[in-house]
Amino acid sequence: MAESRGGIDLGGTKIQAVVVDGGGTVQGKARRPTPTEGGPADVAEAMATALREAAAAAGLEPGGLAGIGVGSPGDADGETGVVSSARNLPGWEGSFPLGATLAKALGTEVRIGNDVQVAVEGEYALGAGRGFGSLLGVWWGTGVGGGIVLDGVPWLGRGAAGEIGHIVVERDGARCPCGRRGCMEAYAGRAAMEAEALRRHEDGQETDLFKLMRKHGKPRLTSGIWKRALDHGDELAATLIDRAIGALGTGVASACNVLDVEAVVIGGGLGDRFAQPYMDALTHEMGKHLFSSDDPPAIEVAALGDLGGAIGASLLVAS
Ligand SMILES: [Zn+2]
Repeated sequence: MAESRGGIDLGGTKIQAVVVDGGGTVQGKARRPTPTEGGPADVAEAMATALREAAAAAGLEPGGLAGIGVGSPGDADGETGVVSSARNLPGWEGSFPLGATLAKALGTEVRIGNDVQVAVEGEYALGAGRGFGSLLGVWWGTGVGGGIVLDGVPWLGRGAAGEIGHIVVERDGARCPCGRRGCMEAYAGRAAMEAEALRRHEDGQETDLFKLMRKHGKPRLTSGIWKRALDHGDELAATLIDRAIGALGTGVASACNVLDVEAVVIGGGLGDRFAQPYMDALTHEMGKHLFSSDDPPAIEVAALGDLGGAIGASLLVAS
């Protein structure tokens, strides 16, 4: 039997750790909030604590694991274990040797990968992508991330592949959080949608989005707030979600025209929340732009849920 492995998903708000057996079944898990103050060393310490707790839940010592994989935001270098420019984490504008720091703290090998890419690889191996030879993962959340697996092999390009959120869906279009114009994320990313909702609301458009946000004590328009507003028949929310689906359909179909993958897996906070009927709407929007329209790719919703990122990260460790 293969040895147990650890996996850590490092998010902007939470750190999720798991310990899985050789078949990818979760034996122990733990979650901690991502530190909002301090710097990379404080984040690494919280990650080590979460992993120790997950290992304890599995009845294991971290040092006894075959290794630990980490899905990290920012520029994650799989060769060196260094993470740079993780700008949604405190004090992480520069570079930090995350892999080496965690390996020292936990007493086993640590491998670092891109957070979205490892989540997509997790779905490919164990979730909604099982049985397909090639897939494009689209992680629809605060931003829109992506990951690619071709003939069973992750396609990382020169390290920056899969940035599907920055496919241009409108030349000289809306300003994207990346600073460019017309990217898919400028229409479909949760952060960009919130900014647009606020602009339109301040221009006098009626909406309950911000009332719901305050009522539920949320600091931002979460996927749950969007869902509530839609369920209430909020017109601005419906308009902006339709606009997002239109952009996603255009961008994802364009990527499929290049890659001709067998399946598209939709994940992320909004992707998980808006499974149906929105996936039918997405399929419809994509259909307008697919060149080979008689054989469209399967559209699947990510199946591993909250633990998917951490389980996917554990696959970075060879079993
Ligand atoms: Zn962009």
